[in-house]
Amino acid sequence: MRTPLVAGNWKMNKTVEQACPLVAAMLSGLQAIPNVERVLCPPFTALMPVSAMLDGSGIQLGAQNLFWEASGAYTGEISAEMVKEFCQFVILGHSERRQYFNETDEGINRKVKASLEVGLTPIVCVGETLTENEAGETFQVVTRQLRLGLQGLNAEQVVRIVIAYEPVWAIGSGRAASKEDASAVIGGVIRAALKSSFGNEVAEAVRILYGGSVNGDNAAEYFSQPDIDGALVGGASLKAEEFLQIVKAAGE
Ligand code: PEP
Repeated sequence: MRTPLVAGNWKMNKTVEQACPLVAAMLSGLQAIPNVERVLCPPFTALMPVSAMLDGSGIQLGAQNLFWEASGAYTGEISAEMVKEFCQFVILGHSERRQYFNETDEGINRKVKASLEVGLTPIVCVGETLTENEAGETFQVVTRQLRLGLQGLNAEQVVRIVIAYEPVWAIGSGRAASKEDASAVIGGVIRAALKSSFGNEVAEAVRILYGGSVNGDNAAEYFSQPDIDGALVGGASLKAEEFLQIVKAAGE
């Protein structure tokens, strides 16, 4: 049995002054929902105050990125060890980072390894663009991102990661993938690829989330699919009531 997981990706939103009231508005509601791993991923600047608010709550914290080197002359970057001071999770390979910051599968692979080395759980994002989708290339794109992103990992490491299938065209667009299409990629492509590379036991243990315009109204549809183990939520994670509705749906 895989424990459902819902992570809120706040992206570049909320100052510390804005982040704390948002956490306060959802904290007791989140705590009251059992059997779901609940993760908040605010921007770097809010990690420290939010981690203090979450202390002892059972709600976990994630960063939205890190750099693979351990330390040194990398101005503006943050290491896995630094993230681990506050967080249990880190989102890696988000399509916005691939698109705007030229992140490559090879670089994402190095970040995955750096995260695992310090005991962080990476949430590794994969997903095709609209052009790739319309060209019928979803299978090839997702398989390549997965193969290169997880290159060199052993089975023991792979069971510690979480994968998020986020079709790029569904992110922030209000145009969510249908539950059937999401499930076909998550079960038929991602879990199948994990099975052929790492064996059935690993494939059955890894949690795979759907992300892309998930909201309070459509979340339950995704969670009704046996292969979908939760959601990575962007816009709707900035609204306390809506995020709670999504997490509740994952617990039901
Ligand atoms: C995301 O940023 O990971 C995401 C899924 O965004 P949204 O829910 O807003 O589509």
